[in-house]
Amino acid sequence: MKNKSVICPGSFDPVTLGHLDIITRASKMFDSVYVAVLINSSKKPCFSIEERMALMREAVEGLSNVEVVRFDGLLAQYCRRHKIDAIVKGLRAVSDFEYEFQMAIANKKLNPQLETIFLTADSDSMYLSSSMVREIGSYGGDIGNFVPACVHDRIVERLRQIHQ
Ligand code: ADP
Repeated sequence: MKNKSVICPGSFDPVTLGHLDIITRASKMFDSVYVAVLINSSKKPCFSIEERMALMREAVEGLSNVEVVRFDGLLAQYCRRHKIDAIVKGLRAVSDFEYEFQMAIANKKLNPQLETIFLTADSDSMYLSSSMVREIGSYGGDIGNFVPACVHDRIVERLRQIHQ
């Protein structure tokens, strides 16, 4: 599936090793990967859009065909405007499936050229979520196995502030 560009959307609040696994695998399969950081996620984010973008940029620094962009609005329209061929999503469990399946069909209706591709989560990171990282980190727990090493300290420091 070369010569194709794909988008990995998410709130990334903050980036986890689960996100990085999906993005890394997508970067090996496709020519260019856009990581779209949602500006107005329905959940009120803990990290600001600037923080989430900066952490993600650092996490993907070694991946030359990955670009981090901010995103708001309808993904199907964004993909049409930027000539993006497919959305790549990570599937952790059956619980992810129903919502993702619904979104994939809706996006296809809005933009029939747009495919949604699901990558199964890695067995080492399938339990991971940003909310779990926030919860553990804000109580001073060790998040060393959950987030990319290069951004670990910054995430820890920021989450500690929440309980100060
Ligand atoms: P979260 O659910 O952690 O708040 P996001 O909304 O930022 O995550 O997720 C963005 C994308 O990353 C979604 O497609 C989601 O399925 C995927 N994803 C999140 N965590 C993991 C993980 N641990 N393994 C694989 N994919 C994941």
